[in-house]
Amino acid sequence: MNILVSACLLGINSRYDSGNNYNEEIAELRSKHFLIPICPEQLGGLSTPRLPAEISKGNGSDVLSGRSYVKNSCNIDLSAQFIKGSMEALNIAILYGCSVAILKAKSPSCGKDHIYDGTFSKTIRNGNGVSAQILIDNGIKVFNESEDFLSYLE
Ligand code: SF4
Repeated sequence: MNILVSACLLGINSRYDSGNNYNEEIAELRSKHFLIPICPEQLGGLSTPRLPAEISKGNGSDVLSGRSYVKNSCNIDLSAQFIKGSMEALNIAILYGCSVAILKAKSPSCGKDHIYDGTFSKTIRNGNGVSAQILIDNGIKVFNESEDFLSYLE
């Protein structure tokens, strides 16, 4: 199966602070599956390193519909870059026929079910990031790294 994966979960230093979130269990899936690393924030044109960003008073769905926006810690609106990155991630998923994605939790791009609340205080709220949302809206089964993706992939 072709699986879209947040690049940072595969050890690629794409995080805002140039770090990664390597997850061995996910990386080992490559023995049975074709893993396609994507970083929607880089695909949207943002540099690495970059300032942290959070969705302000909303979720990925709100950003995609223009009801909310993504801002960085200097209050710069990055919604256009986040939306562009989400569309590029979707393009790659379609190109490779991915029906499943495993994405990094809490990210304003990749987060599924839980994201930071826009106050830069490590407070979590319910909701998806922009890219997770656009993938879900287009029929792709999205997991975060804490969910039981192994059972689904058996
Ligand atoms: Fe990882 Fe996604 Fe953030 Fe890129 S946008 S660093 S892939 S969580």
